[in-house]
Amino acid sequence: MAKITRKTAVRKSSVPKKKAKAKAAKPARAAKTSLKAIKPKTVKPKTIKPWTPAEIHEVFSRFRKANPAPKGELEHLNPFTLLVAVVLSAQATDAGVNKATRELFQVADTPQKMLDLGEERLRDYIKTIGLYRTKAKNVIALSAKLLTDFGGEVPRTRAEIESLPGAGRKTANVVLNMAFGAHTMAVDTHVFRVGNRTGLAPGKTPLEVELGLEKVIPAEFMLHAHHWLILHGRYTCLSRKPRCEVCLINDLCRWPEKTV
Ligand code: SF4
Repeated sequence: MAKITRKTAVRKSSVPKKKAKAKAAKPARAAKTSLKAIKPKTVKPKTIKPWTPAEIHEVFSRFRKANPAPKGELEHLNPFTLLVAVVLSAQATDAGVNKATRELFQVADTPQKMLDLGEERLRDYIKTIGLYRTKAKNVIALSAKLLTDFGGEVPRTRAEIESLPGAGRKTANVVLNMAFGAHTMAVDTHVFRVGNRTGLAPGKTPLEVELGLEKVIPAEFMLHAHHWLILHGRYTCLSRKPRCEVCLINDLCRWPEKTV
């Protein structure tokens, strides 16, 4: 028996050419629709009910009541070790960084001591952290720059911190907030997710979310807002399975897919 291929089947069929074309086009349209259907919903600024100042105040009052003095989880001894810990934490977990720095900071808690330790020995201390070769190079270079340009102290302005090797905007925000009490908002993966999901500060980039959060969060909460949002994202508003049922702000959250 002759093998019937798709081509011969179409040729043999009595379906007129135009109709056949239309039929052939259908599966493509269906595939498009189904892809759309599985695409996760995102909160778009124009489609959500805007937060009122009273609601935002309520959210942060609840965070404050639950945890009046939140702490960052990166272990450090002074502004310098905080700066080094933040530089080491890029694309690594706080727990992983702490494991390495506990011993490192016993021998090198100032820029001079870090330089004396040297890049090779520093690498040994931090080799369990991702990208440790580049990070070791940066930590030695930033220690040298702190000594030559800033008298061995961590500077207090964003531009100066960002001028240090390995330090970007997020590093500057963390250091300014935790070491010097500035009202900055460091946006990591957790803050980015929470800002978008809740609808508090939707944005396509960390900078958009940072500026959005700074705009809406009342000054009285800004010192701790960064930690409340990180901890909320890390322990409650989890990436894959947010724990909406135990979430403090589930009645106010604007995420269309929240589970309560
Ligand atoms: S209700 Fe759910 S999605 Fe909204 S903030 Fe809480 S945990 Fe996250």
